[in-house]
Amino acid sequence: MAKVKVGVVGYGTIGQRLADGVALQGDMELRGIVDVAPTLALRALYESGMPYDLFLVDPARKPAFDAIGIPVSGSMEELLAQVDVVLDATPGGIGAKNKELYKKYGLKAIFQGGEKNEIADVFFHGYANYEKGLGQDFLKLTSCNTTGLIRAVDAIDRLVGVEKIAITIIRRVADPGDTHRGLVDLLMVEAVPNHQAVDLMTIMPHVDATGFLVHTPITHGHIISIVLTPKKAVSKAALLETFRAHPRIRVVRIADGFNSNASLFKYARDLGNKRGDMYEIAVWEECIGFSGEDILFAINIPQEAVTIPETIDGVRACMRTQTDRLEAVGMTNKYLGLKADR
Ligand code: NAD
Repeated sequence: MAKVKVGVVGYGTIGQRLADGVALQGDMELRGIVDVAPTLALRALYESGMPYDLFLVDPARKPAFDAIGIPVSGSMEELLAQVDVVLDATPGGIGAKNKELYKKYGLKAIFQGGEKNEIADVFFHGYANYEKGLGQDFLKLTSCNTTGLIRAVDAIDRLVGVEKIAITIIRRVADPGDTHRGLVDLLMVEAVPNHQAVDLMTIMPHVDATGFLVHTPITHGHIISIVLTPKKAVSKAALLETFRAHPRIRVVRIADGFNSNASLFKYARDLGNKRGDMYEIAVWEECIGFSGEDILFAINIPQEAVTIPETIDGVRACMRTQTDRLEAVGMTNKYLGLKADR
């Protein structure tokens, strides 16, 4: 079967990881990336041998790239003319404008969490509602927190059913290097319910969800605490078995030294993962507890990399390369090196 031709528009935190993820997929071809300016990410790409072809939103800005020596392969529209699907990872709101161009070229596109839900035919999660994305033109990925949250809740839902959840999110306020967000020292709260709880109900309407969110001045990952009411009682052993069997969930132990979000980031660096990325969410074994039959547990969300696997699932769904959910997520996992029982 011919490889699916993919373009990535916006080569920032998410776009550079999407490009790397697509390049690893044996049945996809990354035709190129698009950006507006010679950012540090593009300079680093150039210094590392320029493995991807670069196209510009505005070709008039090519002299700024020539001055550094970064090769430019053409305009964004020239890239759009050669791809089947676009992964749009531009800052929130720009995807909505780009959508008109994607329509003009008859392309499918997958947008990230910063766009409004109306941009897409389907609000998508590879594990929870893969079938809804089949053959659709425009998908929107859940945000980083929602992607990781749904992974864990969907796993329990498929085990025993889930009636309701209440979550508390401790949200990293900026990505590493985001100096434009300021030097902060405060905890900022948002009104309930947070958008992640509302978004989860859009994708899993049978689960009643609400949540509270606190922004914290850290950069290495969010932590979500979840209180979940299952449809029938479930043991800690069964939960651990389900989480361990999930290739995108890593069970870790405080006793082994995983006592913080930063320990997970450091571990990913020690593994040699590019940029210290972790695609998996983590569940702390010692942080699973019960209040009656309700389950209390906590997950770590590596915000920069967590949405990459589900976005690639989106390519498989909208292109109908796999119609079976588990076959599709399994292919993505295989190419990204994600395994159960790590
Ligand atoms: P970013 O600012 O790191 O990167 C955006 C990139 O797009 C930059 O390289 C910028 O130069 C480029 N760009 C700007 N205007 C453009 C245009 N008109 N055409 C092409 N490229 C353009 O942003 P990000 O953090 O990667 O966020 C992208 C999307 O992913 C947003 O919807 C965001 O909400 C979502 N998201 C971000 C995170 C995260 O942790 N950063 C996690 C999940 C989802």
